[in-house]
Amino acid sequence: MQSPTATTTTAAAEQRLHITTDHLTNVTINTSQEPWLHAYLSQSTHPIKGRQLVASHPIAKGELLLIDTPYAVIPVVDDPASSPDVLCSNSKCNRKIISASASASTEPRTRTSCPSNCVPDVAWCNEACRAADQARHGFECTWLKKYAASIRSKWGEYDFGMLWLIVRILATRSVEEVGSLESTQRFKAGWSAIESLCGSPETWAHSQVREWSTLVKKYMRTSESLPHGMSADDVLALICREEANSFGLYPRETGILSLSDTSLDRGEQFAAAVYPRAAIANHSCSPNIIHKPDNNGRMVFVSSRDIQAGEECCISYFDLTEFVELSARREHLQKSFRFLCKCERCLGEETPEEDNSWDAFPAMDDDE
Ligand SMILES: [Zn+2]
Ligand SMILES: [Zn+2]
Ligand SMILES: [Zn+2]
Repeated sequence: MQSPTATTTTAAAEQRLHITTDHLTNVTINTSQEPWLHAYLSQSTHPIKGRQLVASHPIAKGELLLIDTPYAVIPVVDDPASSPDVLCSNSKCNRKIISASASASTEPRTRTSCPSNCVPDVAWCNEACRAADQARHGFECTWLKKYAASIRSKWGEYDFGMLWLIVRILATRSVEEVGSLESTQRFKAGWSAIESLCGSPETWAHSQVREWSTLVKKYMRTSESLPHGMSADDVLALICREEANSFGLYPRETGILSLSDTSLDRGEQFAAAVYPRAAIANHSCSPNIIHKPDNNGRMVFVSSRDIQAGEECCISYFDLTEFVELSARREHLQKSFRFLCKCERCLGEETPEEDNSWDAFPAMDDDE
């Protein structure tokens, strides 16, 4: 069994759930969809980890730290034609097309499909959202019609979702007004933020990069149906960054550390997205931030304990109730995120022998 050093009681975890939920309901949804940052949340560069989020002053438990708007988001559902979890394709809306609270809502929701019937996963919550999203969706529509079915049958849902998310990133870039997002903010925004995400072909196993290269050559070349104007290498580099930085969207909080209560899992994934600012957060297996998407696909960070000035602000990249043992956590992080976790909890749970064996772990590179 685990040492109980990092265990949180169920009651405390539940309290944190309520804190997060309160923050989420108190957030006013503004129509401009501007991201929001806590005044004490700053960005710095760590010599080994690279970019990181740091508290410039003490932050108390339960404070709202960040609301980030997605640069691109795709729904991830089993049966898109009828699923209530499909998100409105308008990137400034992103709400679920049908939800339990929809009947009580003042804004009516009527599932509005693409007139070209590209894929059932594309739909809007009403006609106004569809009209406002025409230019952006126009970029992806032809590509979806041409390739979605064959990618899904030949390569599977995961690769289709990954490529579609890349296409949506390129679609957002195509409608982005140059110069509209000058860095008056503390954090980069827009396409320049996407370009500065970490991750490159060197990050990933050669076999993985070769497979992505094949996908780029087959489906992602710049063309009339996908006019992005980038080289194949640049698209491949974008995939490497996206895979290292994208978030799965789950109905409940990620980052609640309760070894005694597995009912605190985050639920079934319903979407995937790339967030320019939230992506800067590094991972810890006992994070001081809990994260959860709001009803508009925005990523919300809330502190789960008091944070000291100068302390790094971390999230968990996976569901802590799913991977509990040290070996399970490290294997998952190595496979999916390509790093050896040396967070306080991992170091504290290492035995002297493990210390040595794990040092050899990152070297197993290519054949998984
Ligand atoms: Zn909408
Ligand atoms: Zn379409
Ligand atoms: Zn760890």
